[in-house]
Order: sequence, then structure tokens, then C-alpha cells
Amino acid sequence: MTELLFRGATVYTPDGPGDFDVSVSDGVITSVGPGGSGRGRVVDVAGKWLLPGGIDVHVHSRDPGFPDKEDFGTLTAAAAAGGVTTVIDMPNTVPAVDSAGVLEAKAALARSRSRVDFGLWALIRSSSTPEQLQALAAAGATGFKAYLGYGFDDGRKQVLYAPESDDPQLETPPDYGTLARLGPALAAIGLPVVIHAEDPAVLNSFKRPYETYADVLASRPPEAESVAISASAAVARQCGFHLHVAHVSSARGLASAEEAVAAGTSLTIETCPQFLWLSDADYQRLGTAMKMNPPVRTAADQAALREGLRRGVSGVVATDQAPHTDEEKAGDLEHAPPGTPGVQTLYLSCLELAKQMGDPWLATRWVSEGPAALAGLGESKGRISPGYDADLVLIDPTRSTTFSPRAMRSRQKHGALEGLRVSFAIDSVYLRGARVGAKAGGRMVTPSG
Ligand SMILES: [Zn+2]
Repeated sequence: MTELLFRGATVYTPDGPGDFDVSVSDGVITSVGPGGSGRGRVVDVAGKWLLPGGIDVHVHSRDPGFPDKEDFGTLTAAAAAGGVTTVIDMPNTVPAVDSAGVLEAKAALARSRSRVDFGLWALIRSSSTPEQLQALAAAGATGFKAYLGYGFDDGRKQVLYAPESDDPQLETPPDYGTLARLGPALAAIGLPVVIHAEDPAVLNSFKRPYETYADVLASRPPEAESVAISASAAVARQCGFHLHVAHVSSARGLASAEEAVAAGTSLTIETCPQFLWLSDADYQRLGTAMKMNPPVRTAADQAALREGLRRGVSGVVATDQAPHTDEEKAGDLEHAPPGTPGVQTLYLSCLELAKQMGDPWLATRWVSEGPAALAGLGESKGRISPGYDADLVLIDPTRSTTFSPRAMRSRQKHGALEGLRVSFAIDSVYLRGARVGAKAGGRMVTPSG
């Protein structure tokens, strides 16, 4: 039996921060108490902060499918370097995760490469059946993702943005009708349903070529987000399934989500560090590193999203880590693919933001406790408490970090938060009581209850 005793750190517990000893036995926290109360081999962590490991519920491993962009090895090396000990991977890998068989094969692949624990979202297609969804849930899916506006290429087994596909056979994208048809089954299964919330009809009406960043904003107005959220929430409320809105980027989207919650919808909101730290003015500095869908919007949107986080309207910060090759991203605004890596800078950027709001510990709710609850892991991860996995991050509050391409462990080196300086550093990271190293050791996590 391996027993460890973390001594001397300021520990963030569900009841608040304090100077506690934390004992760990066989990867699980066994006690959190005043100095001298625990047992085990002492790890002296004096002066550090001991926080629950981060859980990023929105990453794109690109694995299998696009090994030149990323794989589970590079993704989880980046996660571990940033204090993220669990990642939940999106289903638009190739083949896309639309059946239990594909999910099981992807889980085996991820297990062979992943340095941190991982979960897998499953795909909702317009042709999905209740039986397929039930089988995906039984195979351990965290929940389901519906990409509004994205069709399915059955030949290539790939999710494709419908207006950009050259395939006349492309399966129709899932829409509000799909959610209504599958709603009773989704409610019975009880797992969350994540939407990519950009209404395709609104996008089509505003579409124009991208010559400047103003064209990006004009092409993808906040109405696309707010309409998608309101319509999906109406279906979720009527059918009784939980709706999780991915990457909320606008004040209007946030307001629509808040209205839906007030109307009684079971709904959670995720926003991303890039929307909390950047605005359209940063395009001049960052160029296409900042191109993503939905887009980084105005300073007013940024302020509203920060305020929503402070008030607890949004309880989850996730990254939408979506790497491409640096060569691809070097294309012009029209052609560079959307997305940025971010998992490595999630925890520190949130600590910095929470510190600016006056309470750095808030960050643990956004990146650990809130995401654990969403992913059905609220009884095993997301807290420093007896019985919980010893997924632990030691933060050095005396050293600062500037996000730089040299430190990036993802294949794509230039992320949207490049250059941001934060007043913390990652000291070390433990996954179930063991220092995270170069080897795969991640397990698949599945929702409980
Ligand atoms: Zn995404």
C-alpha cells in the first residue's frame, strides 16, 4: 500500500482554504486535517497551494483521425503540464463516436496513450436511434454532443460543417427536431446533452467572406448563439433532459441561457478562457491564432462573461482545446481552420482571473468542482476530501508564468493566450496519488448515478 502525506500546503477543501495535512492511500485521499494528524511518507509542500486536479470537459484530442494535429499523448502531456488531470474528449474524431463499438475502440486507444484520466462524449446524428444512444451510454459515454449545423459524411465517418462540404450525400445536421425526437430517450438515459450553439439558419443569413476580423463578427452574430440556446433549451425543458451549452461567447447567449434557467430548464453553461481574456481588439496582435467558432467577440461580451462567472451563472470553464498544425493556422483569415489549443493554460489563467476578482479559490469551482458534477464524477473527483481520487495540483503562488509557445506540449504551439502573464506557476501534478510522468497511466472515467 502506498501512503503519502502532503504537509505544509494551503489546501483548498469544499469548506474553504486552510493549512491541512492531506493523507493519500492507494491513490485515494484518506484524510484532510490539521497538522500532525495524517500518516504516510511525508511530501513537504510548504508554501505551496494544494488544489484539486483540473477537469477539462471540452477537448479535441484529434485521435484517432488527425495525428499531425494532436493525439492523446500530446493532448494529455499538455493537460498534465497545466494541472488538468481529467479530460473529456469530443466525439468528432474519425471515425466519429456514433456507436458503442467506436467508443470502445477509442477508449482502448486513449488508454494506451493517455497520461491523465479521460472520458468520452458520444455523437448525436440526425439519424441516431434511441437504441444507439442507450448502447453508447452503456459503453461509458460521459454524455452526448449535438453539433447544430454539422452533417455526417458516412463514407469518411466524419463530422463536417455542412455549408463547407462538397459531399451531396452528406447526412443532414442534427437540429431541434432531432433533439425533440430523441428527447424522451435522452431524458430516460439521464446523461447531459452538449450543444454547439450556433443556429445554422442565422449563420447562413449573415454569411460573408472573411477579409477582416469585422467580417468574422458580422458573419457569426450573437443571435446565432442566443437562438440556438433558447430553442434547444425549450426542447430540453419539455423533454426533461439536461442541456449543457458549450463555449458560450456572447452577452446575448449568456442572457438566453440565464432566461432558460429561470424558466426551469436543467441547463449548465460553459465558457472558455479565450472569451474571458480576449476581445476583437486582440486580433491585430494574435491573427488567426484567435480564429475559432464561435468567435472571440467584443469587450462588452468579455465583461458580461466575466460577470456571469463571478455571479455563478456559468459554473464551468473549459477550453475547447482544438489544435491544428501551425502551418494550417498560418493561412489567411478565410482559410485558416478555427480553433486553438488551451488545456495547458486553463488552470493558471482561471486562477489569475479569480485572483483579479478577489478570490483565487473560485477557480477550483470553474475548472474542477463544476466540471466534475457535469461529467457525473462529483463523487470521485473535483474536491480534496476523504474518499476522493488524489488528483492534486501543487501551485507555487510566488512564481509567475508567461504563456509561451516554447512551453506548449500540444503539437500546435501558438495558442490564443500566448503572451499572457499570470502570477502563479504549476509546481507538480499528481494523478491518483502518483506524480504524472511521461508514461500513459490514464483510466477511462464514466459517469456515476
Ligand atoms: Zn469544440
